[in-house]
Amino acid sequence: QAGRVVVVGGGFGGATTAKYLKRHDPAIAVTLVEPAERFYTCPFSNLHLAGLRDFAAIGHGFDELRALGVEVIHDLADDVDGTAQRVRLAGGAELAYDRLVLSPGIDMRWDSIEGYDASAAGKVPHAWKAGAQTRLLRRQLEEMEDGGVFVLAAPPNPFRCPPGPYERASLVANYFKRAKPRSKVLILDAKNGFSKQGLFAAGWKELYGGMIEWVGQSDDGRVIRVDAERREVETEFGNIHRADVLNVVPAQKAGLIAERAGVTDSSGWVPVKPETFESRVVPGIHVVGDATVAAPMPKSGFSASAQGKVVAAVIAAMLNGRTPPQPAWTNTCYSLLSPDYGISVAGHYRLVDGEIAEVPDAGGLSPADADSAFRRAEARYAVGWYEAITQDVWG
Ligand code: FAD
Repeated sequence: QAGRVVVVGGGFGGATTAKYLKRHDPAIAVTLVEPAERFYTCPFSNLHLAGLRDFAAIGHGFDELRALGVEVIHDLADDVDGTAQRVRLAGGAELAYDRLVLSPGIDMRWDSIEGYDASAAGKVPHAWKAGAQTRLLRRQLEEMEDGGVFVLAAPPNPFRCPPGPYERASLVANYFKRAKPRSKVLILDAKNGFSKQGLFAAGWKELYGGMIEWVGQSDDGRVIRVDAERREVETEFGNIHRADVLNVVPAQKAGLIAERAGVTDSSGWVPVKPETFESRVVPGIHVVGDATVAAPMPKSGFSASAQGKVVAAVIAAMLNGRTPPQPAWTNTCYSLLSPDYGISVAGHYRLVDGEIAEVPDAGGLSPADADSAFRRAEARYAVGWYEAITQDVWG
């Protein structure tokens, strides 16, 4: 036996790491801990909100990982003892490891907006983890009367999926245009700018006229209080906005188990050594995905999976007494403004002086002056990307 690896989290980062560990070396004993029997992806959940994709079509199971020899345990990791190298599960079991991989994604900072806590999210969803929250928001959009206002409170940096709120606003507008054409989308933003902003703004004008309004932080966009009963929000300078459907995406931090393992810093995220994604604080624990500080890589499913592949190669080398390979990572984030209108941002990353750096001229944004055939092609590539990555990660 080459060694024992426990992976916590069966999302983009964790499932990729578990699968690629087995591909590198089938002799490594790999255990994946993930409570959900099916993982529902945030990517393409905005299409479900717009009534353009069945919920079942964004769900993925773990049979292929099992077929590769990964032991999949559906439980929650409750605590980590980094000194004894053991993980305790909520069900009571304890798992020993030589190397631990955490890919727990995000948790909400429930203290960041007055009145917005886990129970308020049961009425006013964030839908920033896919599952019951996504279905709740879809139901509310379906039940809304024509002429209503959808208010989306967008979070401060750094957060999961920088273009995500703006793709959501686009696809909700797409649904409104088809089903409730007198309705409006209002984005109240805690920031003064966002990913692919110029491309989004131009696309919104072309596709939706004045249906989508964006208010940045300095124009009083930052939401500081939520009244979930009344579906009202208050912004920094005291304005009140009433919504017919309210979607609050609060500030975020690394998933709780990272804190329990002692690998987070005061920012709430996990600092890692870029060459191995091993914690800077606790040896033997690698962390990938949204939970990490990996800028300039964005917090995306593509990034999480790319990091997972690197960590699998690193751990397979370490457990076999080889020098880990030099890493490189790639990311592309597609956003759909409608089912036929896609835009993208791509980046390629390498180590420069021990830090992650974007390789100049190796990525970039969709052109601003592209014609509709180009936007249609990028929308097709987005679907191809989704099919390819979900096949790669879950089979
Ligand atoms: P996740 O994929 O969330 O996986 C974390 C897993 O860990 C979860 O399954 C959770 O159940 C499990 N877990 C947590 N704690 C524990 C514990 N204690 N014990 C056991 N298991 C645990 N990215 C893209 O690349 N492209 C896109 O088009 C895109 N679109 C998006 C759209 C939206 C609306 C949103 C919200 C996000 C989007 N993303 C997109 C971002 C993407 O979803 C995340 O970046 C990605 O899921 C991060 O992967 P991860 O492995 O870090 O976390």
